[in-house]
Amino acid sequence: MHGRRDELAAALARVRGRIAAACAAVGRDPAQVRLLPVTKTFPARDVALLADLGLLDAAEARDSEAVAKMAEVVALRPAVGVRWHMVGRLQRNKSRSVARWAVQVQSVDSARLVEALDRAARAAGEAGQRHGALGVLVQASLDGDPARGGCPLPRLEALADRVAAASQLRLEGVMGLAPLGADPEAAFAQLGAAAQRLRRSHPGAVEFSAGMSGDLEQAITHGSTCVRVGTALLGDRPLTSS
Ligand SMILES: *Cc1c(COP(=O)(O)O)cnc(C)c1O
Repeated sequence: MHGRRDELAAALARVRGRIAAACAAVGRDPAQVRLLPVTKTFPARDVALLADLGLLDAAEARDSEAVAKMAEVVALRPAVGVRWHMVGRLQRNKSRSVARWAVQVQSVDSARLVEALDRAARAAGEAGQRHGALGVLVQASLDGDPARGGCPLPRLEALADRVAAASQLRLEGVMGLAPLGADPEAAFAQLGAAAQRLRRSHPGAVEFSAGMSGDLEQAITHGSTCVRVGTALLGDRPLTSS
């Protein structure tokens, strides 16, 4: 599979080039922008190859897919500890599972989910299945589209307060998606302002996760500290999965 490795290396160089150029354009240090590969729908072998290229974080959007893939990655690269992130819509009944494998959940958008994750992280800790608090980003919604998740901006601060008060969770920042079919600039400006406000009341909430394959430049312009990149690294996904 040397071909695929070379393909991924070339794509990684292109994405890093885009991040560097976007940072240079606004005088930011590229070291402040984390590249988080979104590996949903792609096979475990790709995660292993990305790890070979130095990318030791991976994000998934579905619990069941993540659990299966993780086991395969361990079998492929027993010595490599990939850190797994959850970025997709999360049903409360998946909290128990996600709390066992995720270092960070970026898609927390309701008080009920906060409670479920806090309980789940405690149970996982007591069972020896996780060590330390579960990192959480509160997901903001700018388009009110329930299918894409997110908490309305006016309620974001209160949600963040709940995460901060949960003993097994650690508030790490804000995540957001640009509305579909609209100019991402305005959305990222709004999100960036919300992330900054949150940092004032919660100094540890330093992360602002925004920007994907199609709009990472605009997100970086508005302060993104984490770009979640799928297709630009890994290629096109089948249309049936999201
Ligand atoms: C799939 C997904 C991404 C990556 O999208 P690309 O356009 O493939 O880069 C980023 N964030 C979330 C929440 C996703 O579900």
